[in-house]
Amino acid sequence: MIIAIPRETVPGERRVALVAESVKRLVGRKHEVVVESGAGLGAECSDEEFHAAGARIEPSTDALYAKAEVLLKIQPPDDAEVERLRPDSVLVSLAYPLANPALARAVAKRRVTLLAADMVPRTTLAQMMDVLSSQATIAGYRAVVLAAEALPRLFPMLMTAAGTIPPAKVLVLGAGVAGLQAIATARRLGAVVEAYDVRKVVKEQVESLGARFVNIDIEDAAGSGGYAKELGEEARRKQAEVLAQHVAKSDAVITTAQIPGRRAPVLLPADMVRRMKSGSVVVDIAAEQGGNCELTRVGERYRTDFGVTIVGERNLPSQLSVHASAMYSRNMEKLLAHVTDKDNVLKLDVSDEIVKGMLITRGGEVVHPAVADVAMREG
Ligand code: NAD
Repeated sequence: MIIAIPRETVPGERRVALVAESVKRLVGRKHEVVVESGAGLGAECSDEEFHAAGARIEPSTDALYAKAEVLLKIQPPDDAEVERLRPDSVLVSLAYPLANPALARAVAKRRVTLLAADMVPRTTLAQMMDVLSSQATIAGYRAVVLAAEALPRLFPMLMTAAGTIPPAKVLVLGAGVAGLQAIATARRLGAVVEAYDVRKVVKEQVESLGARFVNIDIEDAAGSGGYAKELGEEARRKQAEVLAQHVAKSDAVITTAQIPGRRAPVLLPADMVRRMKSGSVVVDIAAEQGGNCELTRVGERYRTDFGVTIVGERNLPSQLSVHASAMYSRNMEKLLAHVTDKDNVLKLDVSDEIVKGMLITRGGEVVHPAVADVAMREG
């Protein structure tokens, strides 16, 4: 199989879909890997390293796309990239097809098979291919590092000859993959951590990381596939009432709450942020999904006129491009192993749960029922 790795073109994207270590293993399994010249530079992976791992380096983008039997990418392809896709090839990348069915239709029109990396089922079997989890882990860690950097205080408690410094108080809202990693990271830095999630099942996980779970007396909002459901109005009001007290006494709030296919819920309205101490920090991991904080400005970090710094930076995983790429790359390797037979030939078994979840287009059609449905409704 000829596996091609293009250079990512979205501004600020530093990750690459395969790293040299994975290339070596794939070449060892008799695949050919072609890497666009410079594709790994943002992740500190040079053409020489890729070459030494057994890849061919291709200077021309057009030639790379023309050679690809399987194209591995991170960001969804833009129009120019879609135009370059080789008919009858397979594309694996983030695609958000439920939010962007037009892309699915355009890819289908090119007769390209799309496996959307973000549609991986959240099951134990799929865990090793789950880029949502690997990248959320990085985002959770990075968010705490950003908070620690922006906070004009220490995180750990220090008892020194120059006095005793109390530990920072960190509140993590949403204890999914990113939130749990944020809790663990903030604890490692010595902060006192509280966390809250609408799915009560995470209470134990939160506590096992040494954080306190904030209990709010509303119905459990665990939905299907382990994801959360949207809350009703009364529950949202109760939630806001309790959270306001915890937010006000926190030095840093890390927000990670998301609901699949919806705008991220607003957990920090402006008046709640106004009651935080001057110098406090909010890091909103959900910024690109609409933001959990009403005052977040997507892609920006700024200090409000009342002294709270709000970080709404995009694409936190890309800021740690080396390990984000290494983890994405490992996910891709496992996915390729899952969809190839013992002779390393691609075989998409549509009765397989993982393939069924991720397969969006095939044979010129949008084949994923939920995506086809949205595509049809949007005309
Ligand atoms: P996510 O990014 O969709 O959401 C982040 C968190 O926000 C979730 O924990 C969610 O419950 C929470 N949330 C939503 N609305 C909220 C609100 N109003 N207030 C507070 N919190 C709110 O979630 P995720 O990190 O992608 O994880 C989703 C699920 O998938 C979890 O149950 C996780 O354990 C599960 N998961 C399973 C596997 C696996 O078994 N392979 C892998 C990864 C994740």
